[in-house]
Amino acid sequence: MIVLKFGGTSVGTSSALEQVKNIVMAHQEPVIVVVSALGGMTDQLVELMQMDSRSSKVTEMLDAFGCRYANLISAMIDESIQPQVRTDINRLLRELQKDIGNAPRDTYFQDKIISYGERLSSVFVSRLFGAKNAVLVPVLDLVSTLADNRSLDRDISFSRINDYFRNNDADIYIVPGFIASAPDGHITNLGRGGSDLTAAIIARALNVSKIEIWTDVDGYMTADPRRDSNAAQIPQLTYDAALDMSLNGAKVVYAPALEIMKDVRIPLEVKNTFNPDGRFTSIR
Ligand code: ASP
Ligand code: MG
Repeated sequence: MIVLKFGGTSVGTSSALEQVKNIVMAHQEPVIVVVSALGGMTDQLVELMQMDSRSSKVTEMLDAFGCRYANLISAMIDESIQPQVRTDINRLLRELQKDIGNAPRDTYFQDKIISYGERLSSVFVSRLFGAKNAVLVPVLDLVSTLADNRSLDRDISFSRINDYFRNNDADIYIVPGFIASAPDGHITNLGRGGSDLTAAIIARALNVSKIEIWTDVDGYMTADPRRDSNAAQIPQLTYDAALDMSLNGAKVVYAPALEIMKDVRIPLEVKNTFNPDGRFTSIR
C-alpha cells in the first residue's frame, strides 16, 4: 500500500485533476489518496467566515463555489453519475450556507466552516475513478486531535486508522486531508497545511512502503526560485535536513508531517503534478 497526497493546486482545475487521475490510475496496488481543498478555497472560506452573513458578498462567494464545482462535474465526471455527484456536492454547499447563516462565531464555527474545503474536494475526487472500487474514508471518525485543539492525538488516531483499513478492502481510498475531530466530537483541523500530516499519520499507522506528496514544484530547492535565479532542485534529503528546511521557511512539506515520519523513515517523495516525470526530492 502507498499513500499519495495531492495539494490544492493539484486539485484546483480540471487539467490538474486529469493529471491526478492519471497518476492514481497508474498504480496497480491499492492506494490511499489524501486530498486538500481545491486551490484557493481554504483562503476563501476564511474570508467567508469573516463576512457579515447578510452581505451580498456571501451569496456571491457561495455561488462561485457552486459554479466551480458545476464546471468540474461537467468536465470530469462520467455522465451516468453526474446527477448523483451534483446532489452530493450541492447538499454540502447548502449545509455550508446554512452554517454561515446560523452558527455563533466561535472557534468551533471557524473550524466547521473551514472544513468544507476538504469535505467537498474529497467527495468530488472519490467519483473520478470510474469502475475502480474507490471509497471515501470517514476521516473525522479516524483522525483525532487532543483537547487543546489542532495537535494530533497520535495514539487514538493510529489505532482507529489501523482498525478501519483492516476492515475495508478497496482499490482506491480517498481521504479528506486537514480535518479531524476534537475529543468532544466537534470538527477541528491539523493547522494550515495540515493535509500533509493526514497523509503522514496514515502512512505511519499502516507502515506503508512509500508516501508521495504531489505539489506544484519539483520538490525542495536550495533557495526560493522566485528570489534567487541560482536556486537548484535537490534530488535527495534526509528527514532531518528536510525538517530543518521546512522549519526554516521552505513551504514544501508541513513540518509536523516530517516530524511524525522522522523516526520510521518511510521513503517520502515530493513530486510535481504538473511535471510528473521530472525531477523530484526523495527523502529518507
Ligand atoms: N486546505 C488546507 C490549507 O489550505 C490544508 C492543506 O491544504 O494542507 O491549509
Ligand atoms: Mg501544503
